[in-house]
Amino acid sequence: MLIVMHAEASEDQIRRVCDTIAELGYTARPMPGKQRTTVGLVGNDGRVDGSRFEALPGVAEVIHVSKPYKQVSWEWRAEPTIVKLPGGLAIGGESVVVMAGPCSVESESQILAAAEAVRSAGATVLRAGAFKPRSSPYSFQGLGGEGLRLLALARERTGLLIVTEAMDPEGADLVAEVADIIQVGARNMQNYSLLKKVGRLGKPVLLKRGLSATIQELLLSAEYILAEGNPNVILCERGVRGFDSATRNLFDLSAIPVVKSLSHLPIVADPSHGTGHREMVTPMARAAVAAGADGLLVEVHPAPDRALSDGAQSLYPEQFARLMKETRLIAEAIGRRIAQPAGVPA
Ligand code: PEP
Ligand code: MN
Repeated sequence: MLIVMHAEASEDQIRRVCDTIAELGYTARPMPGKQRTTVGLVGNDGRVDGSRFEALPGVAEVIHVSKPYKQVSWEWRAEPTIVKLPGGLAIGGESVVVMAGPCSVESESQILAAAEAVRSAGATVLRAGAFKPRSSPYSFQGLGGEGLRLLALARERTGLLIVTEAMDPEGADLVAEVADIIQVGARNMQNYSLLKKVGRLGKPVLLKRGLSATIQELLLSAEYILAEGNPNVILCERGVRGFDSATRNLFDLSAIPVVKSLSHLPIVADPSHGTGHREMVTPMARAAVAAGADGLLVEVHPAPDRALSDGAQSLYPEQFARLMKETRLIAEAIGRRIAQPAGVPA
């Protein structure tokens, strides 16, 4: 439920609405706008009587949000969410942010070489997992805390921001110490205790679509994070289970305009997990930017044939450089641009 205040409503009147919400046992989220303040009532389980607020001084109208996801919907917020990152980078605005790097951190030399390669091609965020959710318990599980230390080193050397995965609520604090963006992986999209945890940590969250999740389920998972008070969520389309083994997943390009029509949150695309084959990554990266993606998540490895995870879908550095050139042209064709590293003029 949204309680819209009159443009001339006083601070006291806004406070009274918030206090009434608290007295009823719900959370008030005041959102000052250009014209007027709106107060969101978080946690409405259907028992709140809107007329109680309509009677309060300064209240213009009470809006019942009809969608099952509330705070992520356009009904809740009319402006696109722009997730601000350190160094002036932002996801969800005009520019398209490219996050690239290996599937996993494997060693100091590997991550530094990968970071240098993606930075020189124009990426602004380094992606790599220190904690890896693998389908098999016998596959490489990641370097853990040591991997985080190496990611921090790569950031220090290159200036790239870091996106890396937190696998469980217990490990999320450690990840948050290093990550500029905390990734919640496809397998964890419905790990509600993890969603609540990253909702409380306050760092931007990259939420990947589950292996067979509907778009509504993706948005409801994002709602968990916003409901805890963290508005900085970036959605990620990474393909869903299909029936055809020609690709690893069925990369759902249409999810981009669908999400854009339903939510103010930014959405980025991961054509690497979406296709599973490196020759298919660049065409789908181009298509995702053309479809309106706010960013890309691309796996790049200095020696993909020796990668400990996802080598077949990892680009060689020179392939990534080409991807950057081509997606830059696509971005410009639709009036956007690829985000530049801090300090580089647009
Ligand atoms: C990854 O980004 O390396 C990853 C594990 O992705 P997903 O959760 O989409 O499978
Ligand atoms: Mn991977």
